[in-house]
Amino acid sequence: MVYRFENAFVKKMGGGYAACTSSGTAALHLILLAMGIYSGDEVIIPSFVCSALLNAVNYTGASPVPVDINPLTYNIDPEEVKKHVNEKTRAIIVPHIFGAAADMDSLLALDIPIIEDCAQAVGGTYKKKQLGTLGHAAIFSFYATKVMTTGEGGMVFSFSDKLIDRVKKLREYDNREDYEIRYNYKMTDIQAAMGLVQLSRLDDFIQKRKNIAVQYNSAFKNIDIQLPEQKKDHIYFRYVINLKFDTANTLKHLKNKGIMCERPVYTPLHRPLLLKDCIQTEKAWKQTISIPIYPSLTKNDINRIIQTFKETY
Ligand SMILES: *Cc1c(COP(=O)(O)O)cnc(C)c1O
Repeated sequence: MVYRFENAFVKKMGGGYAACTSSGTAALHLILLAMGIYSGDEVIIPSFVCSALLNAVNYTGASPVPVDINPLTYNIDPEEVKKHVNEKTRAIIVPHIFGAAADMDSLLALDIPIIEDCAQAVGGTYKKKQLGTLGHAAIFSFYATKVMTTGEGGMVFSFSDKLIDRVKKLREYDNREDYEIRYNYKMTDIQAAMGLVQLSRLDDFIQKRKNIAVQYNSAFKNIDIQLPEQKKDHIYFRYVINLKFDTANTLKHLKNKGIMCERPVYTPLHRPLLLKDCIQTEKAWKQTISIPIYPSLTKNDINRIIQTFKETY
């Protein structure tokens, strides 16, 4: 089933090679290792994203370098990346945050290997190309809350058969003649079977998310908040709005009324490293909230969310 899921995934990507993993974090760890990234190297990541990126880079012994974001898209800012590139820089991990593609043209122009982090953007596109096909390699997550799920699970994708072979060699430890440090990062057949069915439903999941976003966009258009970027290829893993003030009280009030809105990032990644120059990230952390969006949300739910938000915010 794992083999079948990998093949179906490659077909969806329009070619290339894929390796299933036990999680998105494991996929990140394996691709960094496969690219030969070790201690003494630097890997640039955005600050406004979950700590899985920080963990994966730290597993390898390389130094994570969190940089600031574009406040309109919440994606990594290519100008900020440029400021942090030096002779130790080995890769940039580029998440397509909340389902919206990062500015790939500007990032590719920097000529540093890019690992696309498509954990929030499986099935998304950038200028008609599948996300995950633009960089050196890509990773995906199929955790329970993602756009498609296998419970826990992940994928590494690349057009380089060498890289994916290396990932597969490191992914499992048993039945090997030689010894090197290997991992147990396999996906199970049960998960892969689920992944096959989920993959066949992916386009429908994305269409439903887009339809909900259209309703939110029109309901919120006369309020003084910053809506998500209105791009046709946004797949709305999260519907993130900027209220332009500290959201702490709004979040509390909405939760009290049964609407589970959250900060879209739990804590920015420059904080544990005690870095101070991610100003846009701090602002976005303070001022943005994520409004519930998922394919099974009913018309009644959507109306109640809109109504409650308008009364509360
Ligand atoms: C969820 C996520 C990951 C990690 O995936 P897991 O399967 O939870 O390990 C990595 N990057 C991003 C952007 C994510 O959203």
